[in-house]
Amino acid sequence: MFLMNYSGNSLLRTNNMTKKALNVGLAVSFGLFSSLATAGFEVVALGVDGGVTDGNLTSYLIRDDSQPLYLALDAGSVLPGIAKALEKGNFPDITDEMAAPLTRQGYIFRQRINSYFISHAHLDHVSGLIIGSPEDSKKTIYASADTIDVLRNYYFNWRVWPNFTDSGSGTRLGTYRMQLVRPAQSLSLGLTRLTGEMYPLSHDKSPSSMLLVSSNNNVFAYFGDTGPDEIEKSKNLDTVWRKLAEKVKQQQLKGMIIEVSYPNAASDSKLYGHMTPKWLLKELKNLEKYSGEGQPLTGLPVVISHIKPSLQQGQDVRQTIATELQAGNDMGVNFILMEQGDRQQF
Ligand SMILES: [Zn+2]
Ligand SMILES: [Zn+2]
Repeated sequence: MFLMNYSGNSLLRTNNMTKKALNVGLAVSFGLFSSLATAGFEVVALGVDGGVTDGNLTSYLIRDDSQPLYLALDAGSVLPGIAKALEKGNFPDITDEMAAPLTRQGYIFRQRINSYFISHAHLDHVSGLIIGSPEDSKKTIYASADTIDVLRNYYFNWRVWPNFTDSGSGTRLGTYRMQLVRPAQSLSLGLTRLTGEMYPLSHDKSPSSMLLVSSNNNVFAYFGDTGPDEIEKSKNLDTVWRKLAEKVKQQQLKGMIIEVSYPNAASDSKLYGHMTPKWLLKELKNLEKYSGEGQPLTGLPVVISHIKPSLQQGQDVRQTIATELQAGNDMGVNFILMEQGDRQQF
């Protein structure tokens, strides 16, 4: 019964041959999903990397699949990701007529992204928001007190960039309403019909956060950057796993996006608040333990995000990380590596 909650497709995309086949499969299953109007989430990957490449930095759109408006989960690369998803045919409901006088890219950016959740204020999570702000429409930015403080004081301060927010220094251009989110407080997310609860994460001992997105008794977990508890000397992930275990038991957890920045070869002293496959598997073991008997995580979709690209010849970090995750995956978790512009139902 439990398996029914999860999409059966294994989408660990490791080579181009399978990618093509999987995309076909995905298109078919979307047709099925929309005709059955399955309650769930749709995710579009606007950016998937954890740095280095400035056109493909962490950002995902999520919406209740019965609703038109998206919440952006981080905003590292926004407009390039929309362009890529359009190229891949992954905004099939958006036509030129609907978008006019805007381009489809502009229409999705301005009219379909209703609000932003920012997990933490590192540049690879906010650069698309900042650079796109002069063309953005009025929106709410949901974030922790620390993240709002950094956005206000260090980016939108008329020195680095004009102040497009509704608070802080100098003339306030007011495009963005800064909405402070407190840990574990339940809030509705703009006009998306999604609700959320934020939980703190530890990221090289600086604050980051996770958003538990809910709609109609379904939940989806979006993790900002995080290190493992053991290295971070933290209990933050442990708290999150206990919370998510309740949702697994109630068969409500539809999936998650979580980071693995480096392959296992990275030494623990050089992780700077990030995960390797070994550490993510170890952390997921805690979720499994708290979720009950047997193999409660079988089929659970776990999207791997924030991989740091290598500039070394002959290194395929995505492939290495995928292989290392699969090698240690005795929980039956469905690891998924989305690429920029990909869309998936959960
Ligand atoms: Zn990052
Ligand atoms: Zn970070």
